[in-house]
Amino acid sequence: MGTQSELKFNRLHSLWNGVSNVALHIPLPSISSGNIDIYGEKGRIRKKVVDVISFLSDIKGNLLMGGSFGEEYSFNCSACKTKLKRPVKSLLGKTVLSCINPECKESYVIQKNKNDGFEVIRNIIKFSCSGCDENLEVPIRYFQDLRFNQTLNIKCAKCDMLSEVIMRPLMKSTKMR
Ligand SMILES: [Zn+2]
Ligand SMILES: [Zn+2]
Repeated sequence: MGTQSELKFNRLHSLWNGVSNVALHIPLPSISSGNIDIYGEKGRIRKKVVDVISFLSDIKGNLLMGGSFGEEYSFNCSACKTKLKRPVKSLLGKTVLSCINPECKESYVIQKNKNDGFEVIRNIIKFSCSGCDENLEVPIRYFQDLRFNQTLNIKCAKCDMLSEVIMRPLMKSTKMR
């Protein structure tokens, strides 16, 4: 039993790396050099993700075995499919939850809704591509690592247009009387 689950977890690890290589290493943040390709290669990614999902459902019995954790709310990261969870008790008001996969920059705002369920919103900033009007959705955590005057390069995977976002103060004025 012990040996068997060890083997399975090794397999899981290598599948995980398979996903990382295709899906997660593509959107590298870059400062003044290199690009973020925010779409990746959807076909290849989907195939790898399907591999992992079918394998996970295979060993679900093992993973969920034993232990009672109280009620948990969980969902899968939309970019890397990692399962993210929080005790329901800790989800009061708005909670920001970052993906636990160290290669992934996604984060989410979780908010309780009227029906006692939860609403999960991707924490992103939207730009529109000046080449083709496509929405470029960039996870907010890419910007949190930038400093004054640093640039984030975003490449639109649809039309190959390169957009540069420069971190600079933005002035907003409000008439006070
Ligand atoms: Zn993720
Ligand atoms: Zn475009």
